[in-house]
Amino acid sequence: MRAAVWHGKRDVRVETVPDPSLKEPTDAIIEITTTGLCGSDLHLYTILGAFMTEGDILGHEGMGVVLEVGSDVTNIAPGDRVVVPFQIACGHCFMCTSGLQTQCETTQVREHGTGAALFGYSKLYGAVAGAQAEYLRVPEADYGPIKVPEGPVDDRFVYLSDVLPTAWQAVEYASIPPGGSVAVLGLGPIGDMACRIALHRGAERVIGIDLVPERLERARQRGVDVVDASSNGDVVSEVRELTAGRGPDAVIDAVGMEAHGSPVAHAAHRVVSILPDALAERLMTRAGVDRLAALHAAIELVRRGGTVSIVGVYGGMTDPMPMMTLFDKQIQLRMGQANVRRWVDDLMPLVADDPLGLEDFATHRLPLEQAPQAYADFQAKRDGTVKVLFKPEPRAA
Ligand code: NAD
Ligand code: ZN
Ligand code: ZN
Repeated sequence: MRAAVWHGKRDVRVETVPDPSLKEPTDAIIEITTTGLCGSDLHLYTILGAFMTEGDILGHEGMGVVLEVGSDVTNIAPGDRVVVPFQIACGHCFMCTSGLQTQCETTQVREHGTGAALFGYSKLYGAVAGAQAEYLRVPEADYGPIKVPEGPVDDRFVYLSDVLPTAWQAVEYASIPPGGSVAVLGLGPIGDMACRIALHRGAERVIGIDLVPERLERARQRGVDVVDASSNGDVVSEVRELTAGRGPDAVIDAVGMEAHGSPVAHAAHRVVSILPDALAERLMTRAGVDRLAALHAAIELVRRGGTVSIVGVYGGMTDPMPMMTLFDKQIQLRMGQANVRRWVDDLMPLVADDPLGLEDFATHRLPLEQAPQAYADFQAKRDGTVKVLFKPEPRAA
């Protein structure tokens, strides 16, 4: 099959690799019809490259048609149309039954002390082949795949794999009071969708912050008050002005460790990405690297007694946190990978009626063969690239 394969930092190639096959009775094989490119893939493309192995297949946002199932899989059958959650969860352990599928005790990667295995996300998360490919082997397939109806286009459903549950959980964890306000840092696909969901769920004021003009414009068109973090203005005072001088009730950090606008962070990334892998790996997990520009901004922005919901991914082990401010401002902090299955029942009605604008959400729908260029454009935020969906070419029989 054809697949997007990691070869090194900023080196993604589409090449022919062996087709996946059933390994466990709990597996299924899915023929991918649409698969997304995510901000999380960009971490692997650059600073988390140290954890990747040449030949790893990328991608974790897939949907398609069930081709084959193992003998223990009874919930789905060949021919079913399904969306595959980005994390692999069993559905019956303590964590899964507590709605914490991202901590699944069956698939936790104990060797690295991490949570549930993820598709296409390096050895830290189980070295599972990813979804930017023609076919995908899905472990724990009796629980993970979400059956969706025939009819509507893939764009309606594919975001159930990651963007929708992630943005939904970010808003849920933000605990915005009725009639309250939220600021969303970062208007990539996740922040953009979090703004849409916050408005849909009745937040009185949603403030979106980014540096990329077309991303700000996209949010503005949907009723978000936008603040341009690239201008010389003072973001904190601009946001306070919009929130009675106090700051928003909640701030969602949808940026993560690759914040722009912090020269220190930029320098640290550069150092890590040119180090030999073993050293870089140690630096990423043990050394204090200041990658926290967005998080520090969130803590600064939120009103006293407010909540910071972190959905952007962070990877450092000894990053300094502003404990004095956190304590003094009485801030609640919630964070983590999204527990996809937990939110599916809440999301299904939105997928059916599309008040969030899912059908127009992608800016680029490309053949999988164009993945190398798409990674580069998405990373550089060129060519209006906000959300890319890949379509593998149907194979001649
Ligand atoms: P993205 O890279 O397109 O979005 C990040 C946005 O932040 C960009 O628009 C960028 O311009 C903006 N930004 C950078 N620095 C900023 C700053 N200082 N102030 C304000 N905005 C700034 O990616 P995405 O797909 O939207 O993902 C966003 C984050 O969410 C990533 O860290 C990704 O790994 C993470 N993520 C987490 C989960 C989860 O389950 N928790 C799932 C998917 C993605
Ligand atoms: Zn993703
Ligand atoms: Zn489990």
